[in-house]
Amino acid sequence: MKTDAYEAVIGLEVHAHMLTRSKLFCGCATEFGAPPNHNVCPVCMAMPGVLPVLNRHVVELAIRTGLAAHSEIAPHSVFARKSYFYPDLPKGYQISQYDEPLCRGGYIELAARQDGEPRRIRLVRIHLEEDAGKNIHAESASLVDFNRSGVPLMEIVSEPDLRSPEEAVAYLRELRGILVAVGASDGKMEEGSLRCDVNVSVRPRDATELGARTEIKNLNSFRFVEKAIVYEVNRQIEEIAAGRRIAQETHLWDPEREVTRPMRSKEFANDYRYFPEPDLPPLIVPPDLVEKIKAEMPDLPAQQREKYARDFGLTTYEVSVLLGRNDLGDYFVNVLAQGINAKTAANWIMTEVLRAVNESAQPLEKAAPQPQETGALLRMVEDSRISLNAAKSAFAAMCRSGKGAQATVAELGLAQVSDEAAIAEACDRVLAAEGAKLAEYRAGREKLYGFFVGAVMKAMGGKGNPKVVNEVLRRKLAG
Ligand code: ADP
Ligand code: MG
Ligand code: ZN
Repeated sequence: MKTDAYEAVIGLEVHAHMLTRSKLFCGCATEFGAPPNHNVCPVCMAMPGVLPVLNRHVVELAIRTGLAAHSEIAPHSVFARKSYFYPDLPKGYQISQYDEPLCRGGYIELAARQDGEPRRIRLVRIHLEEDAGKNIHAESASLVDFNRSGVPLMEIVSEPDLRSPEEAVAYLRELRGILVAVGASDGKMEEGSLRCDVNVSVRPRDATELGARTEIKNLNSFRFVEKAIVYEVNRQIEEIAAGRRIAQETHLWDPEREVTRPMRSKEFANDYRYFPEPDLPPLIVPPDLVEKIKAEMPDLPAQQREKYARDFGLTTYEVSVLLGRNDLGDYFVNVLAQGINAKTAANWIMTEVLRAVNESAQPLEKAAPQPQETGALLRMVEDSRISLNAAKSAFAAMCRSGKGAQATVAELGLAQVSDEAAIAEACDRVLAAEGAKLAEYRAGREKLYGFFVGAVMKAMGGKGNPKVVNEVLRRKLAG
């Protein structure tokens, strides 16, 4: 950030595609990647005379999310029409919720950073709405794919409580973790399952009122969220420093040039002519449904982190890395299942496995061996059958070849030699060749011990089991 005289104020509106098989108001499938206009029907194509029917599962997922976020679940909420014209919105309005959303208030707690206290980011609301279709601009024509039309979305709106780009990303990660944990979303930002509008303003550090904000639309990666906020905060500070005012605008992020660009002046609620949806009755949530969902709540990320720290004796940092991606936790547990010490497994995953993932830019299951094989490899280290260095070479080879631990260790001839006779033979060779040093050692230069260990290891191509080498060598040196 360019200056300490100003502070950033950030509020996020997150749109999450919900993990349901069917759409919000009809039975069409929600699958990603179907051929254009494959999953459509008269309801989601807005034919005259059709009526929406609310998907019950969607409501339950939203309630779960609301409970996880400490929101109040409204016993009575209302769907509303949000009117605007766009070719991908065939009804001319989107069914959403307006002044009576399903979940109200609440907060998401961010784990404390090294120094500070945990931070609570308050929520304004969580509401349900339908997605629009997708415009495809081809060379000679513009086309519309309605597969996405009517897919259920949950919008999670935060209060402007976030104070830095890093904090905004931490919030988004925590929120994604919660959505995945309760089964409300798959959290795949790269497939557009989570999209985020970022509201940014700046103000003098001692101010109590909020500054004018811009809204950056539709960011679909953590990196873009962070970069867009950094850019926008700096831009606003420069504008204000130059004596200009911040216009209330909607911006787009340009990932190529890494700048935000104004798209339109900001729309306001009354531009949308919201009114209650006459085709749907108010959504009534009976208290016993909330109680039932409460009783079935899965572990949330914060609870999972606590459990990992407690059960496996890991540090906060180790836990945050293992649970920071939604695939490493399972990987870790499956490595442990091979009887591996938790610290050893965690260290290995944080260094070797993550390195393999980062270097290959592939998902975990392609970049690294199956956790069972990684576990088998670490087992060999723990049983002194291979050295730690040999395990590192074997692991790198396994990542490339996809072969198992046993086969790789055999193929590369990495197995450690523990056979006493073979080690004794190597010791004899070394002592015979180094008569002068042996005499010095026996005369009291005990410092030479390390030299002999090194020489025996070298004679064995680095594969001697250090424990056995030490035992045999001490015996031989004693004469
Ligand atoms: P809209 O739908 O018009 O964007 P809302 O009033 O619901 O409007 O606000 C949307 C988001 O903007 C919320 O996440 C809120 O926290 C955030 N926000 C509101 N005022 C500011 C501000 N001055 N600076 C930063 N964020 C803000
Ligand atoms: Mg908005
Ligand atoms: Zn449909």
